[in-house]
Amino acid sequence: MSLSICPWKYGKRWVYSITYDEALADLHRFAIPMHKEYRIPGHVEVVVGQLGEIRKIGNSSFNGFRHMNADELRDLLARGWGVGNHSWSHEIITPETVDREIGQAKMVLEEALGEAIILYCSPGDNTNMADHVLEACRRYGYLGAMSLTDALNLPVDELFWINRTALHDHYYPPFYSAFDPYRNIRQAQELQGWLIDYCHCPLERAIHPNKDCSEAQLRQRLETVLTEGGDAVWCAMPEEALSYHLMRRHARIEIVALGNGKVGDDNDEMESGASGDDDDDARRYRIALPELPVQVPYRSLTLEVGVPAAWCRDPRVTVDGQEQSAEALRPGVLRVTTLVKDGTEVEVRESPRP
Ligand SMILES: [Zn+2]
Repeated sequence: MSLSICPWKYGKRWVYSITYDEALADLHRFAIPMHKEYRIPGHVEVVVGQLGEIRKIGNSSFNGFRHMNADELRDLLARGWGVGNHSWSHEIITPETVDREIGQAKMVLEEALGEAIILYCSPGDNTNMADHVLEACRRYGYLGAMSLTDALNLPVDELFWINRTALHDHYYPPFYSAFDPYRNIRQAQELQGWLIDYCHCPLERAIHPNKDCSEAQLRQRLETVLTEGGDAVWCAMPEEALSYHLMRRHARIEIVALGNGKVGDDNDEMESGASGDDDDDARRYRIALPELPVQVPYRSLTLEVGVPAAWCRDPRVTVDGQEQSAEALRPGVLRVTTLVKDGTEVEVRESPRP
């Protein structure tokens, strides 16, 4: 008879996100329509110093393509996508330039979009995950930093080194590889991982085979995620998954009442309150969220609570005085996903019958 918080929202087994670095306008050719078709949200990483401009960065393979402008990025936000800061210049960030690359870039992007930017994404390679960069990310109020390390993210992981899976046609020598639409999925299922794909702008052919995939490969990947994931995968934009992760890690559950004062007695069938309306039979919990960062944008938690068998008929859970329908997940276990604030009270009892 306890209240617990699921590792991921809706009790899903694993999480899938995908990110498109550089936020190129040509994402509209294949990627964005494909996301619309599969109803999976995406995420773009913006080089803020070249917002809306034709790309001109060193000898980047993507030079000549146009970065999305503020209107186009706001359109993506309206479609349920997320936007992160991919630095101001896409160059190596030094202690001298860190305020512009991390701080000013965040401010300019937030003003252009009218949206809080809570994710930083390292440009180039993991050089830009240096200590002085991550320190600046914390100081400027980001909630996470994405790297180029090919690994999953686990429910217990820290968020200032988020891993991403390179969704590329093939890898650089000497680690030659072939495109694998199943990459890291099995492990995500096993370890309850959060898998974040990373590519740039899939077109008929990968613009650079070591940095991108083709549109056909992207389609194959999204279809594989959906068929392998079934009802067990939560397809979420990174900000939502990150928010859930922070909510779960900050939540503290206090027991307020366990019904009839018989703490821990699972066999109490409520003889004293046959209607089920007796307040003494309700079980109440309070969820505290001490030190939850104020920037967390999405504040739901998925809760599971153990109850007597009789309470699983037409189950209702009351959250801060509002009745919510719950699902009977297993015998004696109810599950509910609900918005939670600091001090939220959750009450469970047998549903009254008409
Ligand atoms: Zn980049």
